[in-house]
Amino acid sequence: MENKLINIFTNNTNRSLDTKESLTKKLTDRGYTVTGEFSQNARLIICIGGDGAFLKTIHSCSFPSCPVIGVNTGHLGFFQEVRPEDLDKFIADYENQRFTIQELSTVMATITTRDGHHYQHIGLNEIVIQGRPSYTVHLYISIDDVPIEKFSGDGILVATPAGSTAYNYSLGGSIVDPRLKLLQVTPIAPMNTTAYRSFTSSILLPAELSLGVIPEKETENRMAIINDGIETIYSDVAEIKVKMSDTAVHLLRLKDYDFWNKVKNKFL
Ligand code: NAP
Ligand code: MN
Repeated sequence: MENKLINIFTNNTNRSLDTKESLTKKLTDRGYTVTGEFSQNARLIICIGGDGAFLKTIHSCSFPSCPVIGVNTGHLGFFQEVRPEDLDKFIADYENQRFTIQELSTVMATITTRDGHHYQHIGLNEIVIQGRPSYTVHLYISIDDVPIEKFSGDGILVATPAGSTAYNYSLGGSIVDPRLKLLQVTPIAPMNTTAYRSFTSSILLPAELSLGVIPEKETENRMAIINDGIETIYSDVAEIKVKMSDTAVHLLRLKDYDFWNKVKNKFL
């Protein structure tokens, strides 16, 4: 029998909850089984909310392998594709295969502690490395094991193309078309004095290179790794490696989707 299982996730705004109710009814009427819990067997995951809700859905489903689509009840919604007033059109387009799959790459940080343990965090938008509580961090930065700089400042952010329009953009980073496979390393308040020298602009790395970060002695005990806004504190970091991960998010896009049109509508 054909798989008819669809999972719907939502944030808690009234608009989202109303949209969920109406969408659930439409899908059930068409013979789909709709549940609000993640299942490995789902054919589609629908997330109702803004970009923040989309990120939460992706993380709560541990970066699912099935396609995902967002219904936008938030602000502009970079990930969010469907307008709540277009649910019927969405269902018709979905059933008639009038969509494409956008593969979004993700970024992964591997933290090695001094006792040799490894911890991994994946971000769809970005990985941020900072001090906690806030202070000036000093980080030895290498690219594919070649020492590049000693960074001094608030921290560094490594953005995916999809995340380039989020925190990265607020920090003065560039907007990257998600068809490009690269990572953008953006400094957060880099210090540049006669005492400290760091890059002041973002640098772009091709998919196959990794970024190495070794905290200076006073820094290693108090570090925060933030993947898509989810913060983990480490007290004994020996090294952090950041690279593109093999995990991709498969976003369902309808025919009129255009990345640069979204960019224009959000920023101009
Ligand atoms: P939040 O603090 O509630 O919201 C951050 C804002 O970023 C929201 O307006 C969100 O859109 C938007 N956003 C998220 N992903 C985006 C993307 N790929 N492109 C364009 N805008 C995007 O946090 P949240 O909603 O849980 O999202 C976590 C993200 O917040 C992090 O991944 C980070 O990129 C971002 N952030 C931004 C800043 C900053 O710009 N100064 C600081 C910290 C974190 P919605 O309103 O639709 O949710
Ligand atoms: Mn939000």
